[in-house]
Amino acid sequence: MLIAYEMAPEAPARFEFYDGAPASVFCPRCGDVVDHDYAPRNLGVEALDFDMVSTRDGHSIASQKFRDFSARIGIPNLGLIRVNAAPPLYDLRPGAIVTYDVDCKPPFFENKCSLCGGYESIVGPRYACITGVDFPIREGLYRSDLAFASGREKHPFLVVGLDTAELMKQERLRGVLLTEIHKDVAEGGRV
Ligand SMILES: [Zn+2]
Repeated sequence: MLIAYEMAPEAPARFEFYDGAPASVFCPRCGDVVDHDYAPRNLGVEALDFDMVSTRDGHSIASQKFRDFSARIGIPNLGLIRVNAAPPLYDLRPGAIVTYDVDCKPPFFENKCSLCGGYESIVGPRYACITGVDFPIREGLYRSDLAFASGREKHPFLVVGLDTAELMKQERLRGVLLTEIHKDVAEGGRV
């Protein structure tokens, strides 16, 4: 059954989220991000042709139109941290979380850092392996508790409820890629 959509920025941006970040944001041994609350004050982006982009280091950045839309339909617990002066742009940080079930499809964990305890790479998620919520997810925007990819590019994947995804499509937000997530009872979870 269709349980939700995975949401991802369609367009890669040319800028980086951590460009110019202080050294304290990173692990001195492996260079990975340890201060996950860090946000730049001004990325210095002068124009953006999309309502959602991915920075080169994996952060999802939303436009003012995206922010206005989410406020209008009332997406609960959606963090949007302002990271650019003009135009206003926002780092997308959903407070609502889906749990990634590592027994459903174990990701590859590579190179654990002895100092910060993080992994250099966590790759290979299967989006249907989310749990901790009732299915199908009708409303809202969630992030996975685990972050995937390598190094500073690691980021959670984003999950959107079915009704919320329909509203997004109607809004014609530019650069938002929605991919269906199907789940069988055999895959576990409260379907
Ligand atoms: Zn480290």
